[in-house]
Formats: sequence, C-alpha cells, structure tokens
Amino acid sequence: MTARRMLLLGPPGAGKGTQAERLGKSLGIPQISTGDMLRAAVQAGTPIGRQAQAFMDRGELVPDAVVIGVAEERLSQPDARRGFILDGFPRTAAQASALDAMLEKLGVSLERCIAIHVDADQLVQRLLKRAAIEGRTDDNEETIRNRMRVYREQTQPLVDHYRARGVLRELDGVGTVDEVAARIEAALA
Ligand code: ADP
Repeated sequence: MTARRMLLLGPPGAGKGTQAERLGKSLGIPQISTGDMLRAAVQAGTPIGRQAQAFMDRGELVPDAVVIGVAEERLSQPDARRGFILDGFPRTAAQASALDAMLEKLGVSLERCIAIHVDADQLVQRLLKRAAIEGRTDDNEETIRNRMRVYREQTQPLVDHYRARGVLRELDGVGTVDEVAARIEAALA
C-alpha cells in the first residue's frame, strides 16, 4: 500500500516542490506548500501576506502562529481527507507539535516523512539557477545562505522527531527528477 499522508523534508533547493507537485498529480491528492500559499498571500496583498513578506525577503521564517494558521486551514479542506503532501511545513519544533495536534483532531496519522538530502554546494548552485529563471526575490546569494542556516538550525532537527515515530525515510536528492521520483515512490511503499 502506498502512503497517502506524508511530508517532504529537505533544505531549500532539495526539490521538494517539484517532487510534491508531481506526486500530488499522480496520487490525486493535494500538494500543500506553505511557501506557495504565503507567496500567493503576498501577491494578493492580504493581511497574512503583509505580515509574511519582510520575513520571506530576508530568508527568515515567518512566525509560527501565522504559518500554523495557514496550514491548518488548508489541511481542514475536504480534498485533504483522501491524503496530502506537505511541502515546507513543518519547519520548526513548534510547527511539528501543532501538526501532530491538527492531525489528531482530524483523526488521521502521518504515514511518512521523506527526508531529501542534497549537499550544500549543489543546493546553492540550484538556487542561483532558479533565481535566474524565476526571479524569486528570496533567491539571491545572501538570502540563500540565510535560508540554509535557518534550515540547519531549526528544521533539520525535525528528522529526529519523525525517526522516533518510525515514519522517516531518507533518500538522496541528487539525480534526475525521474530518478528522485522513483526513490520517493519506493519509500512510500
Ligand atoms: P524554500 O524551501 O526554497 O526555502 P519555500 O517556498 O518553501 O522555499 O519558502 C519560502 C519562504 O517562505 C521561507 O524562506 C519562509 O520565509 C517562508 N515559509 C514557508 N514555509 C514556512 C514555514 N513552514 N514556516 C515559516 N516560514 C515559512
């Protein structure tokens, strides 16, 4: 049986978004990306977007209370009942606890946490390339370095949280999109 309630964990540039989108389509379940939702809020000029923008532009985390609210609202939508792929949430210990509480309230459990590993040099190369193509305001070198540091300090420790629950699978994120997708599929079996 393939897991249908999962989260992808990995540093900026690891390929979470690409893989989550593809997997969501193939499994027919929503990709829930807090980064995408926050960018849309910034674009639309909503109160949440106005709160988030400065943090995002500096490569810092948006405050837990804001992001937890966004994630909870999305996870509570009817289409997430059949499954979901969390991409970019949780990113802190407080967010991970909030997710545990949300899922308990919804009466479901997380089946997999897929941790995608890519070494730092390769990540910087990928992000600079993406900056040139997409023009994301947080893809400049200083902000990238900051995002990697924030990942190491605040998000990487979550690997232990999910290992302790027995849902963690770790894999190599270097290779073609197809190769990495195949590793993820195997890890969901
Ligand atoms: P990446 O993984 O490439 O850094 P994302 O699109 O996931 O990019 O996130 C971009 C920015 O949005 C982050 O640097 C952060 O400011 C904000 N953000 C996204 N998700 C979260 C989260 N769960 N907690 C706090 N901030 C977040």
